[in-house]
Amino acid sequence: LLDVAIIGAGPAGSIAGAMLARGGRSVVTLEASTFPRFQIGESLLPRSVDLLAEAGLLEAVEAQRFMRKAAAVFLRGQERERYAFAEAFPGQRPQTWQVTRADFDQTLATAARRAGVDVRFAHRVDAVSFGPGGAVLEVTDLETERTFALRARKVLDCSGYGRVLAKLLALEAPPTLGPRRALFTHVEGDLRPEGPEEGDIWVCIHPRGAWIWIIPFSNGRTSVGVVGPKELFEGHGSERDTLFALLRSEPNAARRLEGARPVLRTARLEGWTAQVTRTWGPGWAITGNAGDFLDPVFSSGVTLAMESAALAAKLFDRELAGAAVDWETEYGATMLRAVGSFKCFVDSWYAGDLPKILLATNKPDKIKRAITSVLAGYVLDESNPFVRNGAGTLRALAQLVP
Ligand SMILES: Cc1cc2nc3c(=O)[nH]c(=O)nc-3n(C[C@H](O)[C@H](O)[C@H](O)COP(=O)(O)OP(=O)(O)OC[C@H]3O[C@@H](n4cnc5c(N)ncnc54)[C@H](O)[C@@H]3O)c2cc1C
Repeated sequence: LLDVAIIGAGPAGSIAGAMLARGGRSVVTLEASTFPRFQIGESLLPRSVDLLAEAGLLEAVEAQRFMRKAAAVFLRGQERERYAFAEAFPGQRPQTWQVTRADFDQTLATAARRAGVDVRFAHRVDAVSFGPGGAVLEVTDLETERTFALRARKVLDCSGYGRVLAKLLALEAPPTLGPRRALFTHVEGDLRPEGPEEGDIWVCIHPRGAWIWIIPFSNGRTSVGVVGPKELFEGHGSERDTLFALLRSEPNAARRLEGARPVLRTARLEGWTAQVTRTWGPGWAITGNAGDFLDPVFSSGVTLAMESAALAAKLFDRELAGAAVDWETEYGATMLRAVGSFKCFVDSWYAGDLPKILLATNKPDKIKRAITSVLAGYVLDESNPFVRNGAGTLRALAQLVP
């Protein structure tokens, strides 16, 4: 009988697997695809660096020489504000990376395997049942089409958009945000800032209710994408023409991407906002956006997936050692608070208040630091007013900016 079966070898699965295996637990990770595989979610937050270090995966990531990301920059026409992570709160990480996920996820999975995790690619989890002795997973080896049963004391769902347990246990809850669409690709030849600002993420606010991401990689390529209401994408022709028409109609993106050429087929995603009625139960837990996922505007997805995976791994470890865990308080409520901090930001962004606040250049230093700390992913830090009472603090600030 295994200690833990993990579904999915993305960042969440690898963080949890590495932590458990280093603690001496027997862990199998089942991954339906084979790596490297493309995945969206390329801009990390500084908080993820703490989590990688805690799982013993930091050295493997550092060796990849990913692009250093020291700040998030928000732009609208002539307006521009840079949030440098070094100017958040003391003790928080001053930088993180922009990563091609194919390379990042493979690096983490390989390092997790070295830490002792039995990672099985092309193995899909089709069903899970729970009983007093633990869980039984029904798994298909996609290469041989052979199906077999795997027994484990605990199951950790790190399946991301696969949402395996949410579907199998009927935990899906209606989303609270309106539907949006994204078109994106990778380009070569964008005009990057020089020096330490080269790796910043740019978030450009489009005049027609959309926003644009520009995420530069160390391999010379740059990820570009547009997110907005579906109507915005109609009437421009092919998806590539639509993407570039929208990029060209925002002046900052237009200048930066003037000589840039796509190197990937344009991709489209929509309907990513999802929620579950609960994130844990006896013998199981759901991490990251296998549970709740809001919106990509603050690049929080991978970091929150890692945050929840690391926490669930520690709680499983304690339970396996025979100690009691209060899952509702220690996991359910904690992760709801973390997601909730970003939800206040996302709601305020789409209501139009947060763009004004972010772009205001006369903010007191203390406010800018607190905002930067949230943008860096430190959303469980109760000393931060934007974490303690995000909605109220944002509403009060919005009254002060014209
Ligand atoms: C448009 C857009 C832009 C985004 N930009 C960012 C960004 O800049 N930064 C950021 O942090 N996040 C971003 N995200 C979010 C990000 O994509 C996810 O939050 C992140 O990939 C979650 O990581 P994970 O480890 O939980 O899951 P994943 O990376 O999705 O890994 C899950 C794995 O589970 C496997 N799996 C699924 N089903 C099964 C099964 N039945 N059996 C076995 N294996 C299975 C999958 O093959 C996959 O490899 C963005 C999202 C969208 C929609």
